[in-house]
Amino acid sequence: MARNIKGGDFLMTPVLTDKIMIPEYFTDEQKMYYRTARGFVENEVFPIMDRLQAKEDGLMASILKKAGEQGLLMADIPEKYDGLELDKVTSMILTEGSSLDSSFSVSLGAHTGIGSLPIVFFGNDEQKKKYLPKSATGEWLFAYALTEPDSGSDALAAKTKAVLSEDGKYYILNGVKQFITNAGFADIFIVFAKVDGEKFTGFIVEKTYDGVSTGAEEHKLGIIGSSTRQLILEDCKVPVENVLGVIGKGHKIAFNILNFGRFKLGAATVSGSKAMIQLSVEYAKSRKQFKKYLHEFGMIKEKITNMYLKTYTSETMSYRVAGMMDEEIHKIDKKDPDYTNKFMKAIEEYSIEDSIMKIIGSEYYDDAVNETMQIHGGNGYINEYQIERYYRDSRINRIFEGTNEINRLLIPGVLLKRAMKNEIPLLSYGQEITKMIKAKSYPEIDENNILGKEISALERAKIIALIGVQEAVMKYQMKLIDEQELLKLNADVVTEIFVMDSVIARAFQVHNENLKYSDFHIKTAQLIVNEGVEKVLNNTLEMLRAMVKEEKYPKKEALLRSIYYRPFLRNIKLKREICDTLIDKEKYFLTEIN
Ligand SMILES: Cc1cc2nc3c(=O)[nH]c(=O)nc-3n(C[C@H](O)[C@H](O)[C@H](O)COP(=O)(O)OP(=O)(O)OC[C@H]3O[C@@H](n4cnc5c(N)ncnc54)[C@H](O)[C@@H]3O)c2cc1C
Repeated sequence: MARNIKGGDFLMTPVLTDKIMIPEYFTDEQKMYYRTARGFVENEVFPIMDRLQAKEDGLMASILKKAGEQGLLMADIPEKYDGLELDKVTSMILTEGSSLDSSFSVSLGAHTGIGSLPIVFFGNDEQKKKYLPKSATGEWLFAYALTEPDSGSDALAAKTKAVLSEDGKYYILNGVKQFITNAGFADIFIVFAKVDGEKFTGFIVEKTYDGVSTGAEEHKLGIIGSSTRQLILEDCKVPVENVLGVIGKGHKIAFNILNFGRFKLGAATVSGSKAMIQLSVEYAKSRKQFKKYLHEFGMIKEKITNMYLKTYTSETMSYRVAGMMDEEIHKIDKKDPDYTNKFMKAIEEYSIEDSIMKIIGSEYYDDAVNETMQIHGGNGYINEYQIERYYRDSRINRIFEGTNEINRLLIPGVLLKRAMKNEIPLLSYGQEITKMIKAKSYPEIDENNILGKEISALERAKIIALIGVQEAVMKYQMKLIDEQELLKLNADVVTEIFVMDSVIARAFQVHNENLKYSDFHIKTAQLIVNEGVEKVLNNTLEMLRAMVKEEKYPKKEALLRSIYYRPFLRNIKLKREICDTLIDKEKYFLTEIN
């Protein structure tokens, strides 16, 4: 049996300790799920895109129901309640396949994810029996109502109030929820309200209950085809049996469900990034300036390669984390009465990785859309070329599912909390590092490993990262929470370590197992690590500059530089080669699922 992989443990565990899930292992059945979802988007969604963007009455709801008929809404619903109960890797593949149009994928995600999963994980049997089969088919459409006009990131400051009726049969809800996806047509809302103005609690609210109404459609920058409205609750009578989970424990539902959304957002943005590579390559091959095709210019090549490197990174991390979750979930006995709780814990374990995927997925996708627009020049700015829609659509990813600022706070926050509780050996690893520094003995290059240099560079970067964390904890202790700029720098360091750890693992496995395009994977990992270790060093030095006394700083910087190793690589040449292959293949070709 595989060892228990703790969330965040990649920081302290040597790369290649565990085999990771990589897209090269997708089975034919998994690829079939991808093709089904992708086929649905191409055949059913694309032809009506303009009508969806014009918000034609009832159209998004009808297309979601059609997706339901084709089995695209039931991936995460237990078999017992008429779902497919797919493993997380397959569920991610399905998400990737269905994510080519953001208006549709956000609506679908709100229904299958944040809208339905609270009942999957926290509902009682009666609630599951009543709601989940109808969610699985799309007969009822779901939404998730947490945000309020005065409480977004600070969700627990919600003002919506729930008071028990005199006869004890209902909770009377009053309040306004803001920016609720699918609100225009949802049948069921997962609503968070404070019982007696204090105990934050989840409720299942049906649209037909008295006192439920919605505001006007918001006029948005992007994902225009999706519905976003206020949900207004005025003396809304919710039967007591519709309390979701435990009174006063609504935060557990709200935050755990967002974890799930963050993890899925990784795969959703991978789909968009792959589309951007294809659009960029197609355009760069067809447009000539100065008697040359655009792709013959170095700066354009660099943009396409960078887009590819980021897509490779997001894809690798998404499926690695999905695989880790599956391993943990497979260890739970399905007959265990506490199965759902343990399942939820297996997902929660990787909340650091989820936040990383949310940040990387949304920012890398934004970068890809931005550069694709640049490659298209003036045409990119014109509706006809689609890019402007992608550009507008992608921006929301950095805002919802917890803003990227909040996710950047969560990464070091959760890490330190787990270290304090001794759930991860961060503190004892710190002692090991002190020994290494004393002995001036750092991870050397394994000449027998094709990625030996990169592995040494990464392992040294981990030491550098930990030195930054140690300094910050020693200086600020419990007040570190107020040093947001440092926490952000640290979050980006931790992220970069996970990026490098993941791409080395994938490329190594592909090489070691003689899988297709091995050489290309190796070059990809070399480039990502080469740039990644520099980011780790620079961010950590920036942290130290903010914390260490001026007279002591040069010694600290010298120490870090003595540990640091960046393999020599002709990045420009390598990036040109990679771009030329992408131009030749005309797409992101590594994952052959379509
Ligand atoms: C199109 C769309 C769809 C949405 N769908 C849903 C939905 O279905 N259900 C739902 O419940 N919500 C939904 N939301 C709401 C969304 O989740 C919130 O907008 C988001 O959580 C941010 O909250 P806010 O808008 O109140 O911004 P604020 O919380 O006011 O934040 C404003 C800025 O301040 C930063 N900030 C806030 N707190 C801190 C801090 N402690 N440290 C540093 N920076 C901080 C934020 O990162 C952000 O940059 C949706 C929003 C949009 C636009």
